[in-house]
Amino acid sequence: GTADRNRSHWSTSKTPSYTKSVSWQHHPETHGHELIVTSDKDGPESAFERFLPDADIVISQPFWPAYLTRDRIEKASKLKLALTAGIGSDHVDLDAAAKAGITVAEITGSNSISVAEHVVMMVLSLVRNYLPSHQISADGGWNIADCVTRSYDVEGMHFGTIGAGRIGLAVLRKLKAFDMPLHYTQRHLLASVIEEELGLTYHPDAESLARTVDIVNLQVPLYPSTEHFFNQKMISEMKRGSYLINTARAQLVDRDAVVNALKSGHLAGYAGDVWFPQPAPASHPWRTMPWNGMTPHMSGTSLSAQARYAAGTLEILESFLGNSPIREEYLIVDRGQLAGTGGKSYQLN
Ligand code: NDP
Repeated sequence: GTADRNRSHWSTSKTPSYTKSVSWQHHPETHGHELIVTSDKDGPESAFERFLPDADIVISQPFWPAYLTRDRIEKASKLKLALTAGIGSDHVDLDAAAKAGITVAEITGSNSISVAEHVVMMVLSLVRNYLPSHQISADGGWNIADCVTRSYDVEGMHFGTIGAGRIGLAVLRKLKAFDMPLHYTQRHLLASVIEEELGLTYHPDAESLARTVDIVNLQVPLYPSTEHFFNQKMISEMKRGSYLINTARAQLVDRDAVVNALKSGHLAGYAGDVWFPQPAPASHPWRTMPWNGMTPHMSGTSLSAQARYAAGTLEILESFLGNSPIREEYLIVDRGQLAGTGGKSYQLN
């Protein structure tokens, strides 16, 4: 209830770790299953590694990921299903999972709009200098000149997304209302009717888009060839004073190149909610770098999104345990290869 919510301590930096075991009857007429719930997931002594050799199914959120590396997959000899409660299964080594015959599935579509809304919020908050201005207000100040010294209208600014899939396209649709010229790049062209409706400019590559726009948004999945593709060289292609937004995956960018570009003023702001590793250590430089609008990984896990991916997780479990096929759009890896949405969104090593 409201009273309980008011009492919760949102600002706590300590994240308690827990492990519990509950018995779980899937269908009363069939076998009982044991469900182990834990947040103790990192390192060889973790509860996750201890229970992994016995696990048939691992369910992980992308927000607090149970990294299923090649080594761990080798130890997980009974594992049949790696289920992502959300979207983005890059915490699983997909190549190793395919070779081990493990099915990987995620809840396609469950939080695309949640993330798109977050990106719009970050565009507005960076460009209008919202977070520093809010801090001035919270600190009792009225320094309007300081608030607006870096504050602009978004109208007329050029916005470009690298990746215009489920999230990227939703962001473009929402930003259309702000009268911003819109750009995109990806390997396949969008339908011309969509390009016309939104007045989109297509760029053949990321460099061309980075050179042209004021705000770059990253919205491509992480797989081996996209890792660190937004490096110092790519950032140097961006206009001086432009903004970079990344709610896709932290390893798409070079961590220190972002910090250096903010310090030198080449970038005017960086906002996102994705880090590596997750949880990020307290000393992670993105927590304290100048002009950052970072949050913990939360955009895709609003309560609205949780209701959707919980329902999808249940559906996949019921299919899997009931020996019926998992919906094609939920599949990332199946029968030793990329399948369903995995075939469209990912590449193996
Ligand atoms: P989609 O697969 O729908 O879209 C990704 C787009 O990226 C595709 O349109 C694809 O087009 C394009 N793309 C892929 N590879 C490249 C490339 N090498 N160069 C240029 N474009 C490329 O994914 P979503 O929009 O649903 O999600 C994107 C990512 O966002 C997820 O993979 C996940 O990592 C992250 N995410 C983050 C969340 C959060 O809470 N922060 C929640 C949900 C997702 P084409 O094939 O034509 O290149």
